[in-house]
Amino acid sequence: MAGVVIVGGGHAGFQCIDSLRKGGYTDAITLIDAEPHLPYQRPPLSKSYLLDGADPDTLLFRTAAFFEEQRVEMRLGQRVESIDRGAKTLVLDNGEQVVYDQLVLAPGAQLRPLQIPADLADSVHYIKSLDDINGIREQLDAVEDVVVIGGGFIGLEFASTAVKLGKRVSVLVRGERILNQNVTPELSEYMLKEHQAQGADIRLNTRIETVNRLESGRLSILTQDGQQLECDLLVAGIGVTPAIGLAEQASLECDGGIRVDSYCRTSDPSIWAAGDAVSCEHPMAEGFTRIESVQNAVDQAKVIAANITGTPTTYDAVPWFWSDQYAHKIQMVGFHQGYDRVVQRGDMDSGKFTLFLYKGDQLIAVHTVNKPADHMAARKLLAAGISPSFEEAADESLKLNTLLKR
Ligand SMILES: Cc1cc2nc3c(=O)[nH]c(=O)nc-3n(C[C@H](O)[C@H](O)[C@H](O)COP(=O)(O)OP(=O)(O)OC[C@H]3O[C@@H](n4cnc5c(N)ncnc54)[C@H](O)[C@@H]3O)c2cc1C
Repeated sequence: MAGVVIVGGGHAGFQCIDSLRKGGYTDAITLIDAEPHLPYQRPPLSKSYLLDGADPDTLLFRTAAFFEEQRVEMRLGQRVESIDRGAKTLVLDNGEQVVYDQLVLAPGAQLRPLQIPADLADSVHYIKSLDDINGIREQLDAVEDVVVIGGGFIGLEFASTAVKLGKRVSVLVRGERILNQNVTPELSEYMLKEHQAQGADIRLNTRIETVNRLESGRLSILTQDGQQLECDLLVAGIGVTPAIGLAEQASLECDGGIRVDSYCRTSDPSIWAAGDAVSCEHPMAEGFTRIESVQNAVDQAKVIAANITGTPTTYDAVPWFWSDQYAHKIQMVGFHQGYDRVVQRGDMDSGKFTLFLYKGDQLIAVHTVNKPADHMAARKLLAAGISPSFEEAADESLKLNTLLKR
């Protein structure tokens, strides 16, 4: 038996291995990942790993012994170049072929590169892989001025960590607000003020025109509206695109992501897909959607493992995400697209508050800042389809969990 072959050893790939074995799968499992490292967690890369200078081993899901015990053939540092669906065979970048019975695609997303002159491309740092962050860590001690391009979660997490490390940090944001696609204007504004209060120089509506290397070795950045900045370290966090090249090459159905059905199965019944690369339907979202989060990757991988081990299971977990910036834990649950009302619980000035997002009188998402109990209760409320009234949502004296007993 060729067994299950998993392409991608990130959050989805690792979870799939764990859940397959826990679900009683005894045939062969092979993991192939282009990175040379044992599977590791990405969220700490822009947070604690950078701040604490921790040992890379602290990022690992499990040590090498686990994969040996679980009889997983590890092919690290090897990239899958193509899939022959007829022969159920993968071709690797070293020319080797790997045969599968069931294939799980978990290739994640790839960096969107910053458009700058080719001779300076090496001067830009990104925040995606362990090697990226190790490259930044090597330089950080000698750095005073940092410019971050991008006002999304990862750019801002990196900015807050760099500020904590005593760096002078400027963030160039294309749009008129930070975290534009992910949170409400109220939360954007709140976090903007927090970044500014901590000393970050956030420049909204600012696009980069060009970058030059100065004789001093520093980089000079010219923006389209004529602002000039100098820095020792330039970091881009301008998003990712789903890694669908392999799926497209194999003529699997794709729509900007690898399209899967509610069982996380692709248009080929022997091929499954999970994680950032996947376009899926979700009972709480309209049409097909792509979710870039650890929880989504983990939940979809669990669904695949359950289906492979004989328990038909569909993907319907309520999606959630978190981000740490300074002393703020921001947690988001649900799909907020199309909300038409925000109900606030708690005072923003206290640094602890919850925003309930409604479409009509239906609760569709909840965003919290330093309110983990509200976040946990909101997950349960959304999963149960319970919408508090606007008055209940705003009432801090009402414990949200009590609404679950309705
Ligand atoms: C710095 C950082 C911070 C983050 N913080 C958070 C957070 O706080 N909360 C949160 O929910 N999410 C966070 N995320 C997002 C989260 O990490 C991703 O959503 C998650 O990793 C997706 O898991 P995945 O398994 O789909 O892909 P990944 O974890 O990206 O893994 C994909 C793997 O596939 C491999 N691969 C791709 N193509 C091939 C190929 N052809 N052959 C072989 N191997 C291949 C890649 O090398 C990679 O290791 C963060 C991401 C980053 C980069």
